[in-house]
Amino acid sequence: MIPAEFDYTAPTTLEEAVRRLAGTQGAKVLAGGMSLIPALKLRLAQPPLLVDIGRIPELDGVSVSGGKARIGARTPHAALLAHPALADAPIFADTAAVIGDVQVRNRGSFGGSLAHADPAADWPAVFLALGGEARMLGPKGKRSVGADDFFVGMLQSALREDEILTELVVPLETKRAGAAYGKLRQPASGFAIVGAAVQLMADRKGRIDEIRIGVTGVNPVPFRAKSVEARLRGQSPDAAALRTLCAQIDEADPTGDLHASAEYRRHLAGVFTARAVAKAIERAKE
Ligand SMILES: Cc1cc2nc3c(=O)[nH]c(=O)nc-3n(C[C@H](O)[C@H](O)[C@H](O)COP(=O)(O)OP(=O)(O)OC[C@H]3O[C@@H](n4cnc5c(N)ncnc54)[C@H](O)[C@@H]3O)c2cc1C
Repeated sequence: MIPAEFDYTAPTTLEEAVRRLAGTQGAKVLAGGMSLIPALKLRLAQPPLLVDIGRIPELDGVSVSGGKARIGARTPHAALLAHPALADAPIFADTAAVIGDVQVRNRGSFGGSLAHADPAADWPAVFLALGGEARMLGPKGKRSVGADDFFVGMLQSALREDEILTELVVPLETKRAGAAYGKLRQPASGFAIVGAAVQLMADRKGRIDEIRIGVTGVNPVPFRAKSVEARLRGQSPDAAALRTLCAQIDEADPTGDLHASAEYRRHLAGVFTARAVAKAIERAKE
């Protein structure tokens, strides 16, 4: 279908982009367009103005300092596939490698995926597991929101209409820490039928000390599997124990669709969580 008519602007500074966005009621940010353009074509979105943030250099790139990675919101998925600054955080490569296809990975952005808050997107689970922080700029100034408060509804993040997500800050744990992501892909689109991301820290005896688990594809909103986190703390489970400890995710409340029944999704959530925990434990030993 052909989108409804809209105006288009491509500012080169963040301040100008915020001014343009705030200046037109209903205006929308255009990042990679991988989710927004299909929505325009289906007329699910009919914004009067698109503010393209693709020409604002400060929104693109990755840097690491003080034990934290700073990822510009417009950074494409492909840039996180093998970024030298993220060499010690292979969960980024795990995830970027399984998003859509080459075109989607080159056009779509890390921040766009989080802002769009698709219930089957991959980065939201990772962002939750890593305990990231989202930074945004709007007409009233800067603001930041922690990962646990960022996803507020189906396709709804904590971003206000007139705000631009500028960067994502993620603490990089190194000592006896490991993180991993895995999913069952929907064969046509690549979206997650179920995806689980885990970050954990082990103590000197190899027991799980700290753990965060993010799950996507199951509920309308990505969530932390806190019930499983609590069960795993203090444990050093073998493979069989891990499967048992992860099998029941109390927070999971799936509905069925043509790709997977609710029961199958619930089962898969446990399976993929156990696999991601096992991989994270291995990485924590490296
Ligand atoms: C064929 C196909 C397969 C896909 N497969 C997968 C997959 O396997 N896994 C997966 O996770 N995703 C998948 N996607 C989605 C893809 O990853 C998108 O890149 C992502 O969802 C949105 O990023 P974008 O940069 O394209 O954002 P856009 O489409 O440009 O924007 C999406 C929404 O977010 C808002 N937005 C974007 N950036 C900002 C910002 N900085 N500040 C404020 N608001 C912002 C926009 O206004 C819009 O509402 C797929 C998409 C397609 C078309």
